Amino acid sequence: MTTNGNTTTIVVREPLDPTPEQVLVLKRYANASRACFNFAYGLKHEAQQRWVRGRDRLMLEGLSREEANREAPKVSVPRASDVQRIFLAVREKPLAGPLREGESEHRRMFRWWAGVNAIVCQQAFRDADTAFANWRGSARRAGEGVGYPRPKRVGRCRDSFRMTSVRLVASDLRHVRIGGERDPAGQRALIVRLHRPARRLAREIARGGVVKMVTVAREGSQWWVSFNVRIALPPPARLSRRQKEAGTVGVDLGIAVFAATSEPVITADGKEQLFDNPRHLDNARRQLRKWQRRMARRHVKGLPAHRQSAGWREARDQVAHLMGLVAQRRASTQHLLSKQLVTQFAHVALEDLRVKNMTRTARGTVEAPGRNVAAKAGLNRAILDVGFAEIRRQVEYKAKWHGVTVTAVNPAYTSQTCHRCGHVDRKSRRTRSLFQCTRCGHATHADIGAAHNIKHRALNLEANEPQ
Ligand SMILES: [Zn+2]
Repeated sequence: MTTNGNTTTIVVREPLDPTPEQVLVLKRYANASRACFNFAYGLKHEAQQRWVRGRDRLMLEGLSREEANREAPKVSVPRASDVQRIFLAVREKPLAGPLREGESEHRRMFRWWAGVNAIVCQQAFRDADTAFANWRGSARRAGEGVGYPRPKRVGRCRDSFRMTSVRLVASDLRHVRIGGERDPAGQRALIVRLHRPARRLAREIARGGVVKMVTVAREGSQWWVSFNVRIALPPPARLSRRQKEAGTVGVDLGIAVFAATSEPVITADGKEQLFDNPRHLDNARRQLRKWQRRMARRHVKGLPAHRQSAGWREARDQVAHLMGLVAQRRASTQHLLSKQLVTQFAHVALEDLRVKNMTRTARGTVEAPGRNVAAKAGLNRAILDVGFAEIRRQVEYKAKWHGVTVTAVNPAYTSQTCHRCGHVDRKSRRTRSLFQCTRCGHATHADIGAAHNIKHRALNLEANEPQ
């Protein structure tokens, strides 16, 4: 979500229910999008290489790396508009000379081009611009960099395409019209059914929201459409008396317990401080582990995805599908909790996700490494990364609507610090859930203790900040 003055962009995501014929069309669009990205990539990479060769020549002449970097002849890297021009010029004629990396894909692209909406291609060219801009930007910044962009390989990156001309069919809210008036064959409009009426999207549009960009993507066998909608931010709400009295809540996010809070939160079942993962989520995760194991067993080392066995590919699709399902279910749990937090408190304190190495995975916390690492790490990691980022995103944008302040704190040692006396000791964490201070003996649920520490840190940050 990006916020800009009085507007903000939200993402509304809906599952598609395409017919088998429509799936073929969506795949074709996704293939064209990938091919166009790679086409742009090839041109940009080539220009980049030319610059490197110039720089290396100077180094051979005895210049230091820094000098050579400075003195190397400038090379202009084609941008989306240049790529578009070249693309229009070459797509009509077959490519000459021997095939280079990615080039066979260009040839195939020209077959697809016939029916593919031009905007899909233009957007893919712009995405290539963004990929290179991110890489250049991160090279200038300190800290961990974004790697050099890579071409998109079939089976290695998800099937997706982006375009602006996707509209919700207003009469029933159950269909989207993709790519303007006609389908790629030019016969009839490509109108794809949604799994459920897109009520939220319709509501945002009715309130004046503007659809800026639409992404259509496949996860396993499920296709999704995501609308980026620019909406006006409502004027911040005033805090209620109840919120002011409740003050600050610290939130600790984890795996075994989905979230723990320093203060009780009023829920449908009463007051709670520990939020377990819903059971259906656990079921999906069990299934996920099963298919992941199958995937590992059937994997033939050294073979690319498209040459693996049908069994492996089936397992891979199941894993992708279940990952999507888990993320989705987790998101609905997160929607509920994030709403409760921003309507019941004046100030929400969370862990700062930007601090590296903080996530609690099967590795345990950074401070207290866990056992059984190999089996769980990858899976938990993926779910966590999505989950933590998502709940923070939700809390942050909802907080704006409710006038609530959000503080992100450094989460280091929050799970082994006594919130009563401040003593830090790994041994205080007796079991996964029991915290008992080795100095003052204070005992609490470990995750609730961590939530208290997060709250205290947020309050200290506020106090120390220059006014
Ligand atoms: Zn203590």
